[in-house]
Amino acid sequence: MGELPASPDRRSQLSEGLSRVRARITAAAGGSARTAEPQLIVVTKFHPAEDVRILSELGVSDVGENRAQEAAAKAAELADLPLRWHFIGQLQTNKAKSVVKFAASVHSVDRAALVDALSKAMVAEQEATGREDLLCFIQVNLDDAAESGRGGAAPADVPALAQRIDAAPGLQLAGVMAVAPLGADPGAAFARLEGISQSLTRQYPAATAISAGMSSDLEEAVRHGATHLRVGSDVLGARPAMR
Ligand SMILES: *Cc1c(COP(=O)(O)O)cnc(C)c1O
Repeated sequence: MGELPASPDRRSQLSEGLSRVRARITAAAGGSARTAEPQLIVVTKFHPAEDVRILSELGVSDVGENRAQEAAAKAAELADLPLRWHFIGQLQTNKAKSVVKFAASVHSVDRAALVDALSKAMVAEQEATGREDLLCFIQVNLDDAAESGRGGAAPADVPALAQRIDAAPGLQLAGVMAVAPLGADPGAAFARLEGISQSLTRQYPAATAISAGMSSDLEEAVRHGATHLRVGSDVLGARPAMR
């Protein structure tokens, strides 16, 4: 893997990145009618645990990871920190057991088999540790061209998935999540997601969360009601090469 040399000014880089992103969120939220600012989840995938430790010292409470093994290792190494871990990547059912050991939420729930695997894993985990329910976001595929290219359930499948999560022991339906399709207008995509969220909350009034918006499109996401933003590169810089 490409180990980055420890940089003496990494802390100031991260601090500056964080300040810039927080200022963007405040500016974007200031223009909307919402009362609460959206929750910033700093996406730390591919970056070393040491960066996550610095972010925690800088006041970050929520971090996102997209690979089960990498996330489990970092969460274990940083177990002394008051961090909430969000799993945001495509998830194989055989990783559910590992993920529920550290994750407070999964943003990428997109099929019935995954709901069942997470629920089964959570029942065992709650018996062992008494932990609270796992928050589940239904990932919606907003890319009509690519059949589930970046993961996600078809919009038409959201009601059935919601019902399944709602009925599953150990899981709590939080809301919806999406990634804006490549090359499309993110504003239009997030408007569509907002509509899907409105239908969902008619049936499940507590499932109000909308996880949307990354470095390049967080303003559009906030404009369309995002409650959770997943921002990586504009806080941490370019990701180190994939291992
Ligand atoms: C990597 C990733 C992000 C963060 O993307 P940036 O462009 O680095 O802000 C957000 N959401 C998901 C699902 C990701 O995989």
